Amino acid sequence: MGRSLWKACAGEKKTDGMMTEKSDRRTERMKLTEEWNKKTIELAQALIRSRSLSGNEGEAAAVLKDYMERTGIYDEVMTDRLGNVIGHIKGRNPGSRLLFDGHIDTVPAGNPSGWTHDPFGGDIADGRLYGRGASDMKGAVAAFTTGAEMFARLCGKDFSGDIYVAGVVQEECFEGVAARSVSAAVKPDYVVIGEASEMNLKIGQRGRAEIVVETFGVPAHSANPEKGVNAVYKMCGVIEALQKLTPPEHPVLGRGILELTDVKSMPYPGASVVPEYCRATYDRRLLTGETRESVLKPILEKIEELQSRDPKLKVKVSYASGKDLCYTGKEISAERFFPGWLFGGKEAYIQKIKDELEAMGYRPQLACYNFCTNGSHYAGEAGIPVIGLGPSCESLAHVIDESISLKELTEVSECYAGVCRALLR
Ligand SMILES: [Zn+2]
Repeated sequence: MGRSLWKACAGEKKTDGMMTEKSDRRTERMKLTEEWNKKTIELAQALIRSRSLSGNEGEAAAVLKDYMERTGIYDEVMTDRLGNVIGHIKGRNPGSRLLFDGHIDTVPAGNPSGWTHDPFGGDIADGRLYGRGASDMKGAVAAFTTGAEMFARLCGKDFSGDIYVAGVVQEECFEGVAARSVSAAVKPDYVVIGEASEMNLKIGQRGRAEIVVETFGVPAHSANPEKGVNAVYKMCGVIEALQKLTPPEHPVLGRGILELTDVKSMPYPGASVVPEYCRATYDRRLLTGETRESVLKPILEKIEELQSRDPKLKVKVSYASGKDLCYTGKEISAERFFPGWLFGGKEAYIQKIKDELEAMGYRPQLACYNFCTNGSHYAGEAGIPVIGLGPSCESLAHVIDESISLKELTEVSECYAGVCRALLR
């Protein structure tokens, strides 16, 4: 590992073998690798030990900020109004602005008794680091924070451009929303999303939207139901009609999906009452090029068709919206419409990164994420070139006994240094 590390940061060209290297240089490399790995693991542990449910990331944000300040390598570290932490390393020459993005919020740990390791202990066992957020995605955040640091240190900041490292809040419920604020502050030319990719290069993802369908009836005593209009019966007709819709499909990203996820009636419970209101929520996975209007169009057409046969059918269709407080006290709010994105894979920046990682001995494959990430903003909304590169696999997110392999955690840090070199030297 020491050799590829050196290549990534100091710009050394590939040689024919270890035989030609002087042993003192080899020892120096091994020491440096050890130090680098230790920093990455300890920072990941410290982040895991700082509980950070969405909206309560203050402690984890402070750990990250404090780490960056102590390195002496980051030229500035700021916290924005939503609580995102952004570190900045300036190269000696002008060039592109490269942003590493990782969220520092996590989903709840659930019942700790289900865990064999303390979800907030940062335990290490059998070559793995355990805890909530290990794979999703405090490990990656630690790895790019140290990766950028070590890259800048090893080349003496002799690179062209700027590196930004962002610990982003409120991603689990608002993908890409807090990232808008990072994006506005940094104005990146390239973004690396650190979400789990098994160290492959992710070039796209489906987006997602939450669609709310509401039906309105007339309340009545359920002993005389004919005096009212039952909003649930009305909803049944709508649900049945929407089930007949076929969402679009994309050759790479897959199916658009329109899945009913919940139904709620009012009053609830409705003892002896014909319900006057019913609300259903649909999860819709978004493909590239889909807009707020194009997604609702076939749904509205189906409903119009129903209404032409049933004048008593009163329906409203809209996107769900959510709001929450950030740990800074500021409000975050958004309509739940997070676009999909996809690159072709032949773009120069993707090829440069791939070539660099291959020269370091890695074999990244081009693929797409199955879930939604902050890439929804950077690529989907802002059209910025994005690549996903992270340790661990998607299926280790949000699970009991979440963990990350120490080998991948430390190797990916080296890959992030390789990305800096590919795009900024
Ligand atoms: Zn995540």
